[in-house]
Amino acid sequence: MPVSAAASAREILVRLHDVMGSRARAPEKLGAVVNIIGEALDSEVCSIYLLRDGVLELFATRGLNQSAVHVTKLALGQGLVGTIAKNVETLNLDEAAAHPDFAFRPETGEELFHSFAGVPIIRREQAVGVLAVQHVDPRRYEDIEIEALQTVAMVLSELIANADLIDEAQGGPTQPQPTAAVSLTGLKLVEGMARGYAVYHQPRITIEHTVAEDIEAERHRVYAAFDKMREQIDRMASQAEFGVGGEHDDVIETYKMFAYDEGWSRRINEAIDSGLTAEAAIERVQQRTRMRMRQIDDPLLADRMHDLEDLSNRLLRIVSGQMGTAAQMGLRQDTILIARNLGPAELLEYDRRRLKGVVLEEGSLTAHVTIVARAMGVPVLGRVRDVRRRIAEGDLLLIDTGASTVFVRPTAAIEEAFETKLALRQKRRAAFAALKNEAPETRDGHRVTVMVNAGLRDDIAALDLTGADGIGLFRTEFQFLVSATLPQRERQQRLYRDVLDAAGERPVVFRTVDIGGDKALPYLNGDEHDEENPAMGWRALRLALERDGLMKAQARALIDAAAGRHLNVMFPMVSEAWEFDEAKALFEAQRAWVESRNRKLPLDIRYGAMLEVPALAEQLDLLLPKIDFLSIGTNDLTQFLFAADRANPKLAERYDWLSPSILRFIRRVVGPAREAGVPIAVCGEMGGRPLEAMALIGLGVERLSITPAAVGPIKAMIRSLDRGALMERMAGLLAAPPRDIRGTLARWAAEADVELA
Ligand code: PEP
Ligand code: MG
Repeated sequence: MPVSAAASAREILVRLHDVMGSRARAPEKLGAVVNIIGEALDSEVCSIYLLRDGVLELFATRGLNQSAVHVTKLALGQGLVGTIAKNVETLNLDEAAAHPDFAFRPETGEELFHSFAGVPIIRREQAVGVLAVQHVDPRRYEDIEIEALQTVAMVLSELIANADLIDEAQGGPTQPQPTAAVSLTGLKLVEGMARGYAVYHQPRITIEHTVAEDIEAERHRVYAAFDKMREQIDRMASQAEFGVGGEHDDVIETYKMFAYDEGWSRRINEAIDSGLTAEAAIERVQQRTRMRMRQIDDPLLADRMHDLEDLSNRLLRIVSGQMGTAAQMGLRQDTILIARNLGPAELLEYDRRRLKGVVLEEGSLTAHVTIVARAMGVPVLGRVRDVRRRIAEGDLLLIDTGASTVFVRPTAAIEEAFETKLALRQKRRAAFAALKNEAPETRDGHRVTVMVNAGLRDDIAALDLTGADGIGLFRTEFQFLVSATLPQRERQQRLYRDVLDAAGERPVVFRTVDIGGDKALPYLNGDEHDEENPAMGWRALRLALERDGLMKAQARALIDAAAGRHLNVMFPMVSEAWEFDEAKALFEAQRAWVESRNRKLPLDIRYGAMLEVPALAEQLDLLLPKIDFLSIGTNDLTQFLFAADRANPKLAERYDWLSPSILRFIRRVVGPAREAGVPIAVCGEMGGRPLEAMALIGLGVERLSITPAAVGPIKAMIRSLDRGALMERMAGLLAAPPRDIRGTLARWAAEADVELA
């Protein structure tokens, strides 16, 4: 082929454009297509194979025997054509018969031809057919010819899909069918079962037109889109609006690298030169990258690929004018939301009535988005692989976190089994609800205090629904997270008063704002966004003591809201005893101020500290005499104890709460606190899991503050427990820990008839 790839592809596309627009039937169109391509590439043979009933069937040819059309069929992986489709890869051979996968088909008359080149026709990232050219002379096709073929294959996929010629269902063990039922497994992040239709948080674009009418116009569209995308990425980097937590700095850096990568924009431009629309050009380049990456087995590169996919999709959305997340567009039906990862504020933007479940490609148990979803009662399955390839927008999904599975396009039988299980689960939940008025008292007569964690106005209802003893952790920063601007003192005060009204006699522990880490606020601009390691950075009390205007306003709001009542205030991330002193002094100064105005004061203010930074454990002798209560935040404590980022999905399953390090650490804190007569609670996610909660009680913890949905199961566990026997067992286990404490404890519980939901 003489001219440039772009020119030859363009020439073909112009002619294809006419064919596609014509009123001919699909088989005739395909016949015209093979002639156009054969002529343009000066190839004796040009053939199109399409996947039908899981087999690649010769649909149109120029140069092979016409009698072979609809007769020659190859399974995926069979012959050169089958290999191309199975591996979604291009083959370019000067001697076809020399390839180990070559399968001779006498009916085609192909023995005359030596050279062979074939490219997959791709739809939804899978091959739905193959476009092949053959030559009499043994010669390899040039790169520019292959590129032209790949571009044409892209247009063909549009033609074929519109004509309904393919299965849209690939068979074979390694290529699951996108229209058939599949199940994907993941990690249970928030317990539950949910039914709904797939909605991508960042919607994917379906490309409607592949052939450009006006190349210059397309080029301008891409330039403008690149500008806009770079602007967005720069803004993200400076504002940390990208609240996904953990590795987000890395991700933004990679985004930046790709966004400014000249090679990427140049390749897209070349694809436009060849006659594609801006959308098709972006997708075409992405396809080529995907193909290349498939051949490289490197997890690090795979991660980068993920980033490029995200960015490519972003560029597509900009260019097609379909911006905004699914939340901004509104949910129309029961929805299972799909995202790579989410920030807590992003999740809160969704309509709670329609949002039934979440599937994340990443995610970890103690990331704040998980905690928020748990508070919202929305089941979440995390760490699900291959989501984009297997789930299409609008697919029916069933999440069953108990089975760590999401069923995609379920069969009637799967749906039925799901419904049966759901009914059973509802029955169990009803049994837990019936425990509402029963005290969480062990069989040997020990009363455990079971409180709930809360943070949103809607959570208040959980108190009555669960019969909990109070709110052991009210995360005040949630109000800040859901607001577009900093909530003013009056708004804070209103929320706190409503919470106290609803709680009545039951205690509420207000934790002062814990901002920073994965709870970044876009409207709080400052140096904090440049931090390399925000979880260990300028957050929570550290930030609050320095920006004391924020904490003063909050102190005033709390003191006024609790006028005439008891007020419990807890400080997060206390790392040294003096930080507690400063925070308390700040509150006391506000109390004095309110008093000086002759305003009504709280009956009393009790001050507590969270123990979530391990260093504080070495200052218990200094701290305990100062505080009224202590609460262990196992979410942060675990990440600091193990030096394992709580939001990093790669570490999500690495360490167990039931490890000797954590259990011994907690025991070591509980002892002195009890001796000093300071009430001690656990308010991290650990306490909401029956086996872990049992272990905590075995260590002497008498107060738990947990997610509302866990109250029933935890009460049931407590009521079936012999605490004395458990404490003895725990002491033995910690003296000489077995490799698998979890398994050992579970067996002990089963033998002792402890109810573990
Ligand atoms: C914790 O760290 O365990 C905790 C309860 O606080 P948060 O999850 O809000 O950081
Ligand atoms: Mg914490």
